[in-house]
Amino acid sequence: MNDSTPTCNWPATHGEECVVLRPHHLLCLFCLEGGGDPPDREEWKLDEVLGKIQEDRNLLITLQTAFNCNGGPTTQPTMYDPATRRKDLQVLQKLNLAPGDTRSAYWLLSLALPRFIPTLWNVCNLNGETGPAWKECPVAHTEAYHRGTRAGICPLRPAEEKACAKAESCREIESCGRLRIRAHHLLCIMAFWGRFLDEPIAEDNLWEPLVRMRENPDIEIELIEGACQVCPPCGVFDPKREICDGACGLRDRLKDLNTFQRLGLAPGDVRTARELYDLIYERIDDISQICGGNNPQNVEWADCGGLSDSRFGNARLRGKPYE
Ligand code: SF4
Ligand code: SF4
Ligand code: SF4
Repeated sequence: MNDSTPTCNWPATHGEECVVLRPHHLLCLFCLEGGGDPPDREEWKLDEVLGKIQEDRNLLITLQTAFNCNGGPTTQPTMYDPATRRKDLQVLQKLNLAPGDTRSAYWLLSLALPRFIPTLWNVCNLNGETGPAWKECPVAHTEAYHRGTRAGICPLRPAEEKACAKAESCREIESCGRLRIRAHHLLCIMAFWGRFLDEPIAEDNLWEPLVRMRENPDIEIELIEGACQVCPPCGVFDPKREICDGACGLRDRLKDLNTFQRLGLAPGDVRTARELYDLIYERIDDISQICGGNNPQNVEWADCGGLSDSRFGNARLRGKPYE
């Protein structure tokens, strides 16, 4: 790495640890995982980065190129060679990102790259060299990238850990005097009611709070922003940071705030289940006001499946669970 490597990206990371990579190095990590030997392996400490990601899939990565987000800073780029400058921009273009963007390793390597760059075609594999400046990386014509993407890099949450979290969080929901629920999960709980499943599922705790509210509509609920009692068993819950690390993490933040705004409430407010659902049935008749308006082409702003079926409307037709 050279002296221009940024070491801090506070505006994007809020102080959380972050590594800097060039965009095409994301692909190199898959080649490395698949047994290849990337050209920048030592200079950019790619083995170390790979190890860190396998320890913590939410490690933040800032993408650095020879250019800034304007294509500047000057007319003649001075960093890197043309072939790798091109690879960096090809990768950013396919991922719909720009220089300086920061995402988690999980977002980049599990959600985006396998979907948008399934092969090295037209990034590293150029079907031959057109001139001395356009040397191909020898790894491009091996199976390393394919093997790496098939194996995957980011660890999934172990099944036993999720099962333990389910049991423990359900005990807490069953016994606590006051529920703690993120604002938009009140609507997801309602949507669950509209699916007529009426039984617990392994992946989250949408059913269990509903049972407590149905049995005791006067139970208090503290409204929060971010992960709540619904989340502990979920495959995209990061127990270390207590955040939702799936593609929905950011848009769910907006849904929380949209819900608060529609209900005229704020984080930390406490109301009974009856007060809350009376308010919801009065003020929210169209879920797209809260959860819609997303951009389906974009990983973090894609729509939730609940927008395209009638579960929310069905819940309204079914009536409040405690009536
Ligand atoms: S083929 Fe491309 S992605 Fe793979 S190691 Fe070489 S430069 Fe990196
Ligand atoms: S659309 Fe999705 S996120 Fe929104 S309330 Fe329905 S299930 Fe929940
Ligand atoms: S971790 Fe995310 S996806 Fe899972 S239940 Fe919580 S908010 Fe929903």
